[in-house]
Amino acid sequence: MTEKIATQPSCADPFDGESISLDEALTRIGERVVPVHACERLPIRECLGRVNNEAVKSPHNVPPHPNSAMDGFAVAAGSLQAEGITELDEIGAAYAGVPFDGSAEAGQCVRIMTGALIPDGTDAVIMQEQAEVDASGRVRVDADHRVGENIRQAGEDVRQGEVVIDAGVRLSPADLGVLASLGIAQLQVKRKPVVAFFSTGDELMPVGEPLEPGKIYDSNRYTLHGMLSRMAVDIIDLGVVRDDPEAMRDALESAAGQADLILSTGGVSVGEADYIKPALEEIGSTEFWKIAIKPGRPLTLGQIGASIFMGLPGNPVAVMVTFSQFVVPAIEVLSGASLKRPALFRARALDALRKKPGRYEFQRGIATLADNGEWQVGKTGKQGSGILTSMSRANCFIVLPDEVDGVASGDEVHIQFFDWSL
Ligand code: AMP
Ligand code: MG
Repeated sequence: MTEKIATQPSCADPFDGESISLDEALTRIGERVVPVHACERLPIRECLGRVNNEAVKSPHNVPPHPNSAMDGFAVAAGSLQAEGITELDEIGAAYAGVPFDGSAEAGQCVRIMTGALIPDGTDAVIMQEQAEVDASGRVRVDADHRVGENIRQAGEDVRQGEVVIDAGVRLSPADLGVLASLGIAQLQVKRKPVVAFFSTGDELMPVGEPLEPGKIYDSNRYTLHGMLSRMAVDIIDLGVVRDDPEAMRDALESAAGQADLILSTGGVSVGEADYIKPALEEIGSTEFWKIAIKPGRPLTLGQIGASIFMGLPGNPVAVMVTFSQFVVPAIEVLSGASLKRPALFRARALDALRKKPGRYEFQRGIATLADNGEWQVGKTGKQGSGILTSMSRANCFIVLPDEVDGVASGDEVHIQFFDWSL
């Protein structure tokens, strides 16, 4: 038998006993990250994407008064003849913002426009298409009408005192509209978390300079900047840090003074030039996790003063995968928002996918809606963790749980659409 090297555990292994699951990693992140405390009061337009600090209760009913849902004629439904046609005298008009000043009696109606207050003495709006006006101006309607017809009741949308937006909600455009509909001009929201990030690696060069032998351009700071820019955080780009314990320690120390969350890429694997670990151990506390996912197995979580540190892997795809699965939830918790898991959709695989059991995989896919209304997903080609074009061509992750042992074309899989915004 030919002699072989007894190999050490590595990231090429499908599984090793020290790994923790994706769910376990998320649980631990949830336990270690503390939400920001401070709040600020802002005009509601500036609250878009921010986290609401206190439940908002409605100060009044919306709509505040009963009003018409249609253009037509306001009548008292009970005053119409039980059968056949009733002829009515039009005694005036009600417009949105200009109420009818008076009261209608039996045999009378009020011309009414959408949004106008329901006049006294009336309780139904007959739409104009269901009425006739004769040559003398009398309004003719039939008997098929009931109380409340085409009337929007007061408080139909929101009742006074009702909670309309919970605490911990990230505010959407619709939420801003709801606040405005209640007349609320300002809102108290959590302050934005500050996120600092840097790349590590002596091989990294900035864009805009000719590439030197053995070097590569630093792409991770661009994907990180892109993903963070879509979130409600303030960002600090700390550039590239050399593979040197002192440079690393200085970077971490200065970042800790400014940021709630510090992200780095590279330097967390078990290679020779791993400087993050000794630097972190000197100035804070640290935990090294192997997560049973692919790509993106190594992840470091640390604490320096009040700041959380997350050391992401160096490989560009692994950076985006670990950002989407771990950094986004960490920022959610930090922001004071309630944590939500990304939505998964069922899709039919258009290609066979290679996978070994043991790790939860995030392959890159292009999902489209098939004619039969089902999602279908194709792969983006080579799936190596350094092949960043596999991310830029994709619109989703194909999510393959631990136990999956390859996928045949036509099999059902789960997909997770890219969503770099919160
Ligand atoms: P490391 O974890 O530092 O050993 O990095 C793993 C791989 O990712 C190596 O091939 C690095 O050259 C590459 N890498 C690390 N950082 C970056 C970066 N900022 N941009 C592009 N590739 C990187
Ligand atoms: Mg490196």
